[in-house]
Amino acid sequence: MNDLATDNLFDTDFHSHLTRLRELSASLEVRGGWPEESWQTMCDSGITAWFIPEHFGGNPQPAQVTSIAYIELAAACLTTTFILTQRNAAVSRILSSDNESLKSELAHKLAHNDIFATVGISHLTTSRQHTKDPVLKAIPNESGWLLQGEIPWTTGVEAADIIVTGGIQPDGQQVLIALPTNLPGINIQPAPRLLALNESCTTSVTLDDVRVTSDMLLVGPCENVLAAGSTGGVTTSALALGAAQNSIRGIQTEAEKRPDLTPTAMELSSDLESLKSTLRQMISAPEHPTNGEERETLRKKSNSLVLRAAQAWLTASKGAGFLETHPASRAVREAQFFLVWSCPQNVMAAALAEFSCVSITR
Ligand SMILES: Cc1cc2nc3c(=O)[nH]c(=O)nc-3n(C[C@H](O)[C@H](O)[C@H](O)COP(=O)(O)OP(=O)(O)OC[C@H]3O[C@@H](n4cnc5c(N)ncnc54)[C@H](O)[C@@H]3O)c2cc1C
Repeated sequence: MNDLATDNLFDTDFHSHLTRLRELSASLEVRGGWPEESWQTMCDSGITAWFIPEHFGGNPQPAQVTSIAYIELAAACLTTTFILTQRNAAVSRILSSDNESLKSELAHKLAHNDIFATVGISHLTTSRQHTKDPVLKAIPNESGWLLQGEIPWTTGVEAADIIVTGGIQPDGQQVLIALPTNLPGINIQPAPRLLALNESCTTSVTLDDVRVTSDMLLVGPCENVLAAGSTGGVTTSALALGAAQNSIRGIQTEAEKRPDLTPTAMELSSDLESLKSTLRQMISAPEHPTNGEERETLRKKSNSLVLRAAQAWLTASKGAGFLETHPASRAVREAQFFLVWSCPQNVMAAALAEFSCVSITR
């Protein structure tokens, strides 16, 4: 079931890969572990080249296409699409580097899926901001830096050749590094069980005196290594909308047998279409002065919709939906992810306000 805009944007090859991702997604949690086949499907579709310039061997597509693709991909398989976003976050940081030789080497390999890169930068943005000591220290030495500490979160690290990560020097300046995962002293911790998305293989990495040479430097030393190359984009909202779309389709399927569910399906669907249209407008005017604020509003509304849609699907599915193996049950668990993933203070505050608001009339 694809809307008209989506049909016009993508070819049949994209749709066949989407179908395959959806099929594989159904048993992802049962199989467990790194979703090799799903990730291979993503690579085979050519999508991984969309985010890399042509001169590095990529096949760049406009944001209008990639954002709508993110929605469709997330509706088909949230786990694999989330992995793609983390890989693309690494790609975007590599592409924004002034280290031309490193950029060229990594970008070519990434364009051809010869390597997999991920990102471990949350300790510079949203994670552990209340701790006094830097989570990851970068001590300069004659050949580069000695890294000591931890990368608290990194997705797909067991499959990764490179982790784009940041360390803090004793003088407070930051460095952003393309860290090869095979260096001595890098210890990938066993992945902890998560509420959902376990197959993203997200875990922490400890670094015990890891020697990294200066040829792996992407940005810095400077005050805020993440200032350059930040997409500040709408990807998180696009994924939330995709997950909501999956739940709404579930309700629509139930409504075919039970017309009493039709108004719910229609309400949620209209909410979804309106947010998709906001997203499309924002992408077509990325330099609009109020765009930052609008992006945040879109994220708040997308978060609210993905949670409501999943709960509505569970409600409509009744007790059967409560089985761990039911897709509605999984959708409810996956929807919670948007409450914690890359969640700025204002988005968190909006969610807390929504949860604490008494809206039921007694
Ligand atoms: C499934 C998943 C995948 C992820 N993948 C990646 C990835 O690939 N790359 C990446 O960079 N990031 C990733 N993240 C990280 C994510 O983007 C956020 O940075 C992260 O969820 C922030 O949570 P935190 O527990 O680290 O926050 P923290 O702020 O460190 O909070 C942890 C705990 O510290 C305490 N605390 C918090 N604030 C305070 C305070 N002010 N005072 C005292 N105590 C406090 C609380 O008890 C809290 O529970 C991922 C997260 C998840 C859940």
